[in-house]
Amino acid sequence: MTRLVWFRNDLRLADNPALHAAAASGEPLLLLYILDEQAGAASRWWLHHSLTALAGGIAARGGALTLRRGDAVEIITGLARAHGLGAVHCARAYEPHWRETDRALDAALRPLGCGLHRHHSTALFPPERILSKAGRPFSVFTPFAKACREAGVPAPALPAPARLDGARAESEALAEWRLLPSAPDWAGGLRAAWTPGEAGAWARLRAFLAGPVDDYAAARDAPGRPGTSRLSPHAHFGEISPWALWHRARTAGDGQGVRVFLKELLWREFSLNLLWHHPDLRTRPIRAEFAAFPWVEAPAALAAWRRGRTGIPIVDAGMRELWQTGWMHNRARMICASYLVQHLLIPWQAGEAWFWDTLCDADWAANGASWQWVAGCGADAAPYFRVFNPVLQGRKFDPDGAYVRRFVPELARLPDAYLHAPWEAPEAALEAAGLRLGRDYPPPLVTPEAGRRAALAAYAGLGRGAGADTLASRAGPAHL
Ligand SMILES: Cc1cc2nc3c(=O)[nH]c(=O)nc-3n(C[C@H](O)[C@H](O)[C@H](O)COP(=O)(O)OP(=O)(O)OC[C@H]3O[C@@H](n4cnc5c(N)ncnc54)[C@H](O)[C@@H]3O)c2cc1C
Repeated sequence: MTRLVWFRNDLRLADNPALHAAAASGEPLLLLYILDEQAGAASRWWLHHSLTALAGGIAARGGALTLRRGDAVEIITGLARAHGLGAVHCARAYEPHWRETDRALDAALRPLGCGLHRHHSTALFPPERILSKAGRPFSVFTPFAKACREAGVPAPALPAPARLDGARAESEALAEWRLLPSAPDWAGGLRAAWTPGEAGAWARLRAFLAGPVDDYAAARDAPGRPGTSRLSPHAHFGEISPWALWHRARTAGDGQGVRVFLKELLWREFSLNLLWHHPDLRTRPIRAEFAAFPWVEAPAALAAWRRGRTGIPIVDAGMRELWQTGWMHNRARMICASYLVQHLLIPWQAGEAWFWDTLCDADWAANGASWQWVAGCGADAAPYFRVFNPVLQGRKFDPDGAYVRRFVPELARLPDAYLHAPWEAPEAALEAAGLRLGRDYPPPLVTPEAGRRAALAAYAGLGRGAGADTLASRAGPAHL
């Protein structure tokens, strides 16, 4: 009997439990990908190239990848009838729309005598496995991370199948899906920055581990330096297994750099856990009192933020890096997100939606959890009084201005002393740098001081309604 392997965010051949289980049966395989219509524009760009790479790897093993678009239950039950499928194998997916699909698919396949086998594949542990001693989900990162370490991360053990020949079904053409931008073609910076696909993921990991990994603990906070792995889109699309990431990194030593890198992998894990227990993570605050937060509607400010025209250099650098490369450094993500929600008081969901569309690594769990964390409404959230000052953040983490000068070139000639706050520069310094504020670069939408006052007033109002003690008593997160 033929078996179907349905790829989702596990676009790899090595260490892929669904593919491995199906191939180990010795039965003919039908290999399928169904377009995830929820993907944002940058993710669709990535997906096009990742699917091209996957299809190439399958073809090299004598098989073919079938592409379909539409309702997954209809497509798979249709294939089950046409090919007399005995089993369907896929990676477990934790996004709410896929959870619903899986329930419906399971029910639809049963009467056809076809089993649905969902393999855990996209994170280190199945999310229901890591619970507190009392059997409850964790809402604080540090004990969660400890529980993960105690559980022991399994080693990657499944080689890519040598042959993948078998059944074939009619496929749509990838080009017809129009996942790539046409006019305007905004993907030049993405093409220059990334190599989607399993080989690209491994090359990225090897390059990172061959570099100064020991420096990672400090270098990861400097957006102007290539200090982080940039593996996040590869991890999101499952082009490399989470176990391979963990264990390969461990082979690089047990210094501070590797330890912090492993901790970051556990933040990814923690986000997935939160999504599992809070399926509406992307839209609804985990802490219910935040539903009453006095958000403001400010479409012009939101548009300026999206385009990197807020007048705050480090924020604009981050937002332009995102637009140009489909990725943004973690430190810049925190600063940009904080400026939007704490200084401009624009709902975090608006920022989440923009990141969703423009990030190549846009991830239901990590994006939703991180935005909630910055807004203060998530699990283990930043304490409400920790309002990032983007000027101080810029001076601390981009002291020589390498990041700002790269992405906000109109400020390049300003001396370091004024680079992160050009509105404070004396007229002579602006003139010498060939810069006129308001003409070449905008004045700040909100200065850090005014933004901080606005944020604290908003949080205080919320505190009166919801218990300021709860807000004030929260400890700072470990990864600030
Ligand atoms: C507002 C905001 C939105 C974010 N949205 C996303 C998103 O959509 N997708 C996404 O993958 N990450 C997201 N992050 C987390 C983090 O910024 C990125 O994972 C990281 O910048 C990726 O770069 P890297 O691969 O070089 O990370 P490294 O520093 O090399 O870390 C290694 C890996 O650990 C994981 N990781 C690191 N930090 C985090 C974190 N804080 N939370 C979860 N996983 C982490 C990633 O998979 C990453 O590839 C967001 C952070 C913020 C503040």
